[in-house]
Amino acid sequence: MDLQELYQELILDHNRQPRNRGVLECGGHEADGYNPLCGDRVHVTVELDGDVIKDIRFEGSGCAISTASASIMSEAVKGKTLTEAKYLFEQFITLVTEGPEAVDDPEDLGKLAAFAGVGKYPARVKCATLAWHTLTSALKGEEDTVTTE
Ligand code: ZN
Repeated sequence: MDLQELYQELILDHNRQPRNRGVLECGGHEADGYNPLCGDRVHVTVELDGDVIKDIRFEGSGCAISTASASIMSEAVKGKTLTEAKYLFEQFITLVTEGPEAVDDPEDLGKLAAFAGVGKYPARVKCATLAWHTLTSALKGEEDTVTTE
């Protein structure tokens, strides 16, 4: 199995069985995201413990890329500090817009590296980044729905 197939399998797996799906009742930090280009919708709730993301859940409906991205993101940021999560977000955006050569250290990305091929399909970049923009909005406490437009 080459790397491309492995990445594809990872995305399909997270789409079929999304991790951290649902809503945190004690959340406190939440936001909605909408990608009108594809119709993806996501709702993210986050529980913070100081500046650490103690828990995160998401729900919504969307294409395989948006669902898998929200699922893999939730695993990637859980237990991370806000600074670490912001760094991952920046690296992820760099990966999907500029390609794997542009990121600081591909090892930092872990499973997020599965989205490396998304950059070839500009419309899909919005599907892949929707959950991240929504997480950022939730952490800032913004009430409005985030759109990718
Ligand atoms: Zn989509």
